[in-house]
Amino acid sequence: MPHPLNISNQTISAQLSIDWDDGVQQILSHLFLRSCCRCADCKALRLHSKAELTVAEDIRLTEVRLVGQYGMQLIFNDGHDRGIYPWLYLQELLSADDAIASAERLAVIGRA
Ligand SMILES: [Zn+2]
Repeated sequence: MPHPLNISNQTISAQLSIDWDDGVQQILSHLFLRSCCRCADCKALRLHSKAELTVAEDIRLTEVRLVGQYGMQLIFNDGHDRGIYPWLYLQELLSADDAIASAERLAVIGRA
């Protein structure tokens, strides 16, 4: 399984970029990362409502903490710090990336 060589949090563009050791660069928006948090709270929310719609558009990722060898913990400026994102999960997101990016753009256009 690929491992990240470099993780860089770009606060101005609100994106997290990950350079994987298989040569792939993954770019994830803070909004998207917050929306797909898999902690118990967010999972429960998602079961009962459309949690991704409740995330503020100006959400920002403020801190990235490595968790052992297998993933990272993300801390957001809405105080949410319970999300652990294993490398395996990020790899799964990588394959779904294109569809999500266009869905996100559509959502933004829809609100404009
Ligand atoms: Zn969460």
